[in-house]
Amino acid sequence: MSTKPRQLTYMERAARFPLDFSVTVVNGTPTITVPQTWQGLHLTRLGPYSNVHLSKFAPRININAAPVFAEFFSAIMRADAFNDILSYDGGYYARLKRGVKTPLPGATKEAWGKLLSNHSRGTAIDLNAKWNPMGKPGAEFLDEGTLHRIIEVAHTIRVDLETPAGTIWPAGIVCGADWHGASRDDMHFEVGTWE
Ligand SMILES: [Zn+2]
Repeated sequence: MSTKPRQLTYMERAARFPLDFSVTVVNGTPTITVPQTWQGLHLTRLGPYSNVHLSKFAPRININAAPVFAEFFSAIMRADAFNDILSYDGGYYARLKRGVKTPLPGATKEAWGKLLSNHSRGTAIDLNAKWNPMGKPGAEFLDEGTLHRIIEVAHTIRVDLETPAGTIWPAGIVCGADWHGASRDDMHFEVGTWE
């Protein structure tokens, strides 16, 4: 077992959190559409939670990933770090990863699928975005908006989940703070695996 969970591969994501989506491109700008029926069947809300900064937030996430994020928020509370959450900046949101090149016309659905953000499956959440913008080091320890303690907690999360086919696998949380260069994304927490 590694010391941190790894990201799911595209094949693993597609198998464990299958997504129904379509793409329309207008003037070179793609829009990802996920049917309401899929959203109704596969998404749920956690909470609502509140802390001294946020009167109410209720992350909308994939129902199969919910135990991971429920444990994440519980562990943040146990670590007395819940008030480090200054803003909740989104869970489920159908979109491409930031900064990717749009595929050429005629690209396969799989080509598009590989470019989808984990937020599109409801398996990622963003916290304290304003203080932790993508591509830059996040707020320093003890500074406003710091995620240091929350990232520390995220690295400890391990929850067994079941695939749609019935296989149990050890899920964890991958932190965008551990990525490098332009991909670094301290606000971002996504479901990964300890396998
Ligand atoms: Zn994110």
